[in-house]
Amino acid sequence: MHTCELHRHFEAGLTPEAIARLAQRHRVTEARTRAGTVIAGVDPQDPDSICQYYAAVAEGLSAPDGAARFIDSFGLPLSVMRSLDDLESAVFDQLIACAADGSVHTELRGSPYTYREHVDASIDEIAAALVLGVQRAWDERGVSGTFILAFSRQKGLPGCDPNLPAGQAGPVADLAARLHRSDRPVGLDIAGFPERPFPPGAFADALRPARDAGVPITIHAGEQGRPPVFADAPPGFIVDAIERLGARRIGHGTSLAGSRDARAFVRERGVAVECCPVSTACMGFVPIAQHPLPLFLAEGLSVSLSTDDPLMVGSPSVAHSFTAIAGPLGLDDAALLTLTRNGIETAFVTDERRRWLRARLEEGLAPRTA
Ligand SMILES: [Zn+2]
Repeated sequence: MHTCELHRHFEAGLTPEAIARLAQRHRVTEARTRAGTVIAGVDPQDPDSICQYYAAVAEGLSAPDGAARFIDSFGLPLSVMRSLDDLESAVFDQLIACAADGSVHTELRGSPYTYREHVDASIDEIAAALVLGVQRAWDERGVSGTFILAFSRQKGLPGCDPNLPAGQAGPVADLAARLHRSDRPVGLDIAGFPERPFPPGAFADALRPARDAGVPITIHAGEQGRPPVFADAPPGFIVDAIERLGARRIGHGTSLAGSRDARAFVRERGVAVECCPVSTACMGFVPIAQHPLPLFLAEGLSVSLSTDDPLMVGSPSVAHSFTAIAGPLGLDDAALLTLTRNGIETAFVTDERRRWLRARLEEGLAPRTA
């Protein structure tokens, strides 16, 4: 099964085995929440114990306190990456693992400020290590990837982060502008909770330098609402992300289901949608069987398929996610091929790499003649 994954949060994509190895390296003996509270009964050096913990996390994500549980559950993978070398190696290893699961190209994303909570380095050094991991995967193994720098929307604006009075948005956008090169793209994303009251339009000024530098931008928008009106993340947020931030892709975009006009706008602008139905269902926003992915495909939107947060939502790969959604959504192999092609056509890569990816996919599809 050939896939192309554009929306995968790096620290949430570490395998239990990778977390355990890092925990052993740094002699981490207690699992902690993001806020530092010890999680009883979890051995961070035992993959089975980690698996059991995340299975329990997944079951609780749709509860009323699901967002808090979700944020807490990032504490473990973040706490075991302690050095620039850890970050670089974990990016490298994850891209190789995704390729082994069928992904012809994988885009990882994450916030340098978040990693700095456990790595004693500047955000420039952290971003350079992440991008170096991507570069090594290509140079040493021929595995294609891109890194997308992100920041948390709730800490993005001045006054929102007590540790950073200026907010995270401006510095991360400046960093992306410095690091991005036309021959080695680095992307930019706004992630985090909640979408309201931190809509895309609030970040227009902060993202301007990245936009002017040609940094490819994707924005989490239209994720955190529930049908039929998607009040917590209305379709207008998606239109704003495109018009005011220059987004080329939208993370999730589920609330487009609530507006034919917004879908037409997205299609006319050639903006792509990174759908992650397993995650969306696990978070309690839209059940898999009601996810609008088939509607988007039928209307000709450029939709790709991703996992989002593999550890937390119990779906380690796009192939696994497709298997989970194919039945409920009535998707066949032709739909998977469209999703993969859409991913390749809207990946943040050079034209040369895109030609290579197209050839790779066609090669994989060629009938065996031997
Ligand atoms: Zn996401």
